[in-house]
Amino acid sequence: MVSEGANGNTLIIGSTGFIGRFIAEASLDSGHPTYLLVRPASPGLSKTTHTIDSFQDRGAIILTGSVDDEDFLEKVLKEHKIEVVISVVGGARILDQLILLEAIKSAGTVKRFLPSEFGHDIDRADPEEPGLSMYNEKRRVRRAIEAAGIPYTYICCNSIAGWPYHDNIHPADVLPPLDRFHIYGDGTVKAYFVAGSDIGKFTMKTINDVRTMNKSVHFRPPSNLFNINQLASLWEQCIGRKLPRVTISEDDLLAAAKEMQIPQSIVASFTHDIFIKGCQVNYEIEKPNDIEVCSLYPDTPFMTVVECFQEFATRVAVDVSEAKLAQKLKSSTTNDFILVPNAK
Ligand code: NDP
Repeated sequence: MVSEGANGNTLIIGSTGFIGRFIAEASLDSGHPTYLLVRPASPGLSKTTHTIDSFQDRGAIILTGSVDDEDFLEKVLKEHKIEVVISVVGGARILDQLILLEAIKSAGTVKRFLPSEFGHDIDRADPEEPGLSMYNEKRRVRRAIEAAGIPYTYICCNSIAGWPYHDNIHPADVLPPLDRFHIYGDGTVKAYFVAGSDIGKFTMKTINDVRTMNKSVHFRPPSNLFNINQLASLWEQCIGRKLPRVTISEDDLLAAAKEMQIPQSIVASFTHDIFIKGCQVNYEIEKPNDIEVCSLYPDTPFMTVVECFQEFATRVAVDVSEAKLAQKLKSSTTNDFILVPNAK
């Protein structure tokens, strides 16, 4: 559904981040000319450098600069005839997107802007502080985009698949628990858990789709709707053993939010909003600017939560066997090993 004359040139800002990596991978997979705006490398950031190198090997064009440099951004957008801008900057940089928006307005090349959303419908969800402040910033960005008349798509992908730790902003980067479960409230409130790769894949499908222009795209795959009691049972099946459950009450989550430790308290306030108030499921998709992603692409399956958890279980098995091997190496003498001479 690429409009006629479109070059598909796509600029991603934040591609080295947690969600951004999935977007950049998906953009490269989809064959769009992919430009990545990255900050100048800081010494010691070898993981980031490795990520950027691997994107570059796959054909990404790297542009070095910052999201708060309006002149630079305007120049880049014009020079590379960028038609799609996807911002995946983190919580501390949300308002910098107002500067990016000014550059988009001046450049005049951009046919679709996806601001850094990638979570809940921020006009509907109403978390406690400090999550509310982040949403207020995201709301300011939405209103500025709409006032500027720049075509947009808001990706409301709900939760990334993983164990929803109430103190970890990047839950898919860590394994689900192996000691005990924290169950929020009575554990019966449901939420959508979407694999990071699917957040990337379906986001890329929306960027040139006329049906998603000026819409909020809600990710509600039925196979990915679970409450935390169900998630716990599923994980137990994957690892083949039972774990104890500890209740984290509504008051516990509110107290963690009130501590105002950033970012943990932000995550606590979102956890409260999701698993106590039901912010992902307590509304119908009914407004004229709402659209559900499965209705747009019914033939493209989502990775199920079962598949995601099986992948985590495989990682546990690898970790366990690596730990055993490391233990064996530590306790071995050189006589335990047969040295194979070089074949040459
Ligand atoms: P991260 O903090 O992991 O990544 C932020 C990215 O922005 C990095 O690539 C970083 O680059 C880049 N960046 C930072 N400053 C600048 C700058 N001045 N100029 C250009 N790039 C910059 O962000 P997240 O992935 O956690 O968050 C992205 C979005 O996803 C947010 O809107 C967040 O709310 C949402 N989110 C959704 C989740 C979900 O479960 N649905 C979970 C987590 C986040 P560098 O590598 O140089 O630091």
